[in-house]
Amino acid sequence: MDKKNFKDMWVYVEHDGKQVHPVALELCCEIRKLCDQSGDRLVAVIAGQLPESEVEKVKQCGVDAIIAVSGTGYERYNTEAYTNLFTVLCNKYKPSAVFVGGTVNGRDFAPRFAARLETGCTSDATELIYNPETTDIEFVEPAAGGKIMAVITIPVLRPQVGTIRPGTFKHVPTGAKAKVELIKEEISFPVENIRSRFIDFRADAFDPELDIASCDTIVCVGAGIKDEESLGRYRELAKLLGGKLACTRPVVDRELLPYKLQVGQSGVMIKPKLYIGFGVSGAVNHVTGVDAEKFIAVNRDPDAPIFNYCDYGIVGDMDEVCDMMIAQLKK
Ligand SMILES: Cc1cc2nc3c(=O)[nH]c(=O)nc-3n(C[C@H](O)[C@H](O)[C@H](O)COP(=O)(O)OP(=O)(O)OC[C@H]3O[C@@H](n4cnc5c(N)ncnc54)[C@H](O)[C@@H]3O)c2cc1C
Repeated sequence: MDKKNFKDMWVYVEHDGKQVHPVALELCCEIRKLCDQSGDRLVAVIAGQLPESEVEKVKQCGVDAIIAVSGTGYERYNTEAYTNLFTVLCNKYKPSAVFVGGTVNGRDFAPRFAARLETGCTSDATELIYNPETTDIEFVEPAAGGKIMAVITIPVLRPQVGTIRPGTFKHVPTGAKAKVELIKEEISFPVENIRSRFIDFRADAFDPELDIASCDTIVCVGAGIKDEESLGRYRELAKLLGGKLACTRPVVDRELLPYKLQVGQSGVMIKPKLYIGFGVSGAVNHVTGVDAEKFIAVNRDPDAPIFNYCDYGIVGDMDEVCDMMIAQLKK
């Protein structure tokens, strides 16, 4: 396989027919930067119907071209039609890389079409680097329980397929290009070959307290938390600061708080203005999920790794420090 025959970087634009999934916009903005370094074109792939106002949001991320796919099979996400679509498109256009949001759907079909194309797929990278010498993308991700940062490349095969978790990158549109090429494709997948059947859709009851991804202030408790009762003071602190409570994975494992409040590599990626971590050691799997303007850490161990990441560190008992903060705020 000659890598030179593969050009352009693609982003799959996931949508529900009404709105683009935020991860697609985040990816377009990040991959724009890689394309500027590599000289590739940034191509957004949109299957099915999407309002023009939403397509405009994609254009604002600086895409060079859009492949708009019509045909049967794309009304609702399904494994078969989407796996087939990317297999067919990649064989025809030979992109150098395809990036897919690491949503439930993206994680389902990306490895499948990569396998059909006999190429590699990496998941959950927290950083993407273009290497001009090899022309490979370096997918950087925490590995071995966060003890090392692994750099994964797909050095001899193309396209390089990767799934990236929502919230990993920022949606910072650079503006639409003067000319965006529109490539129309009609690829119909026989609906009778879709093996799943749509029966009903029931959305989770929306609990705003569990929506930490877009919150400005996060009070995060780690394994240092004693018990359920001691959570009360952290809830109170979060409320006084106009923020929300979040936690590390061991707190979820102990069933003290729900999974939706877990921050980190296998939880929610957060970008608050203020993050205060209480009794959090600073494992890389956790801190890679935090992109805070101000990072405060409270830990009784002065050598805890979290002190390498924070703007302000307080060595002390987490409950005592929390009570002091509450008392000061009430004053
Ligand atoms: C593939 C993979 C994915 C993962 N994904 C995630 C993820 O998404 N999110 C996540 O959080 N973790 C994740 N983990 C787990 C992660 O590696 C760590 O084990 C975890 O983040 C540690 O949580 P912690 O800091 O709360 O606990 P610990 O590492 O046990 O640290 C507890 C800290 O509390 C301090 N402490 C104890 N008592 C007190 C007190 N009274 N006052 C002050 N300080 C006190 C201790 O000094 C210690 O530093 C993942 C692991 C793997 C392998």
